[in-house]
Amino acid sequence: MRLRMPKQSPQERIKNFNPVALGLSEAQAVGEAKRCLQCKNSPCIKGCPVEIDIPAFIKLLAEGKFEQAGEKIKEKNSLPAICGRVCPQETQCELSCILGKKDSPIAIGLLERFAADWQLNQLTADNIHQSTEKKSLNIKKRKPAKVAVVGSGPAGLTCAGDLAKMGYKAAVFESLHKPGGVLVYGIPEFRLAKKIVETEIGYIKSLGVTFEENTLVGKAFSLEELLTQRHYKAVFIAAGAGLPQFLGIPGENLDRVYSANEFLTRVNLMKAYLFPDYDTPVNIGRRIAVIGGGNVAFDAARCALRLGADKVFIVYRRSEKEMPARVEEIENAKEEGVKLRLLTLPVKITGDAQGYVKAMECLKMRLGEIDASGRGRPVPVEGSQFTLDVDTVIVAIGQRPNPLLARVTPGLKTARGGIIEANEETQETCLRGVYAGGDIATGAATVISAMAAGKRAAKAIDEYIGGRND
Ligand code: FAD
Ligand code: SF4
Repeated sequence: MRLRMPKQSPQERIKNFNPVALGLSEAQAVGEAKRCLQCKNSPCIKGCPVEIDIPAFIKLLAEGKFEQAGEKIKEKNSLPAICGRVCPQETQCELSCILGKKDSPIAIGLLERFAADWQLNQLTADNIHQSTEKKSLNIKKRKPAKVAVVGSGPAGLTCAGDLAKMGYKAAVFESLHKPGGVLVYGIPEFRLAKKIVETEIGYIKSLGVTFEENTLVGKAFSLEELLTQRHYKAVFIAAGAGLPQFLGIPGENLDRVYSANEFLTRVNLMKAYLFPDYDTPVNIGRRIAVIGGGNVAFDAARCALRLGADKVFIVYRRSEKEMPARVEEIENAKEEGVKLRLLTLPVKITGDAQGYVKAMECLKMRLGEIDASGRGRPVPVEGSQFTLDVDTVIVAIGQRPNPLLARVTPGLKTARGGIIEANEETQETCLRGVYAGGDIATGAATVISAMAAGKRAAKAIDEYIGGRND
């Protein structure tokens, strides 16, 4: 049977923003690690976008060598406590685990989280510092070249961390007042505690990476200025996909219609759930519709519930099977009381005399033939229009790449949906010395795919700078 993560009860957790998952005990982690077959061909490693040596770290856990297990993961992944919490392991390493063919796969994600948390919990700040100092001996000889990284989400953090380990001076420029990208402004505290993000960013800083917050590259200065006047040898653009999309239906400009991006930024980054202790409020009603079926939609729905809504609906035009959100988070949301309105397409939001949302008109859908996404195409059922009685609507149907840099950088090529064109192996753009990766170069994707792009970029930048004579 699959190892289950101990959690706060649903009745308790909808009253707070504390982490839902409580973490494994040492005995649970060792027991699970001992199930691993230590397969010679390690299919699980091939399933991991950053190729963590999974059998090796699990073996160390099975032997009770928890700190060494954490170090083994960090050889490939500088943000293990984050990945252990948010990566879709069920479609990656765990999907490839040989044990999954007959029984349940090893709970690799839970073990990764255990190893990373053990290090964070056991080591005091001083010890972390000392252990990093020890590690800094392993950092390759310091190099004089500077590299600029635009954006401090998982792609930027990984690229900067890897460059620092290679000996470069990496400087991260971030437009918001806090580094972390979606990890701090999007994913809620109850799924990813901000202390964890801060600590893992602390690790990147301890490698020598510097951060300049409140700096919007493209407005404060251009990429060209970074490369010429500021003497950076290369730039990695990791500016993410933070531009909200709307449905384009009547009523989307009414009061209490939010983009998920604005709603989650208010709640998570600006801590609206602690208003008035924090300055930024978020004004929601009692009955909330969240449109979409991905992680963003579920995060918004579960935040709304915790802010005191009576009813929260996820409104999605396909069936549950096609939802892109992590299975674990769909289960968590259902346990908490979020209702799924599946095969439902909103067509109009209606308002009251004061301009606030009053209701949402919807159509029932059925699934037709398979479309380009490999899922059944939703087709409206004739005469199926109905009204959903809601007073707040949160639109979570996807985000587009942030457009600013492409707009203000002459010659930087973009492709469908505004993504910056970059080589899939090296992350090089069409401009010399300029690389791009993560959501800005793929459209909204995952934390681990952004990290993998950051790793590829760091390697390619090292080769580029190493090969230059100027
Ligand atoms: P981002 O994390 O978006 O970071 C980009 C950073 O660049 C931001 O901090 C932004 O402020 C900054 N920036 C932008 N433009 C500039 C500029 N011009 N100058 C300076 N800084 C700039 N993925 C998962 O794997 N699992 C999950 O459970 C999951 N849940 C999610 C929940 C939500 C609510 C959201 C929104 C996304 C979720 N994702 C999840 C997706 C994942 O978070 C992203 O794919 C990932 O963060 C992309 O990383 P990135 O580094 O490319 O960009
Ligand atoms: Fe262990 Fe599964 Fe990887 Fe085999 S595939 S080494 S059982 S985690």
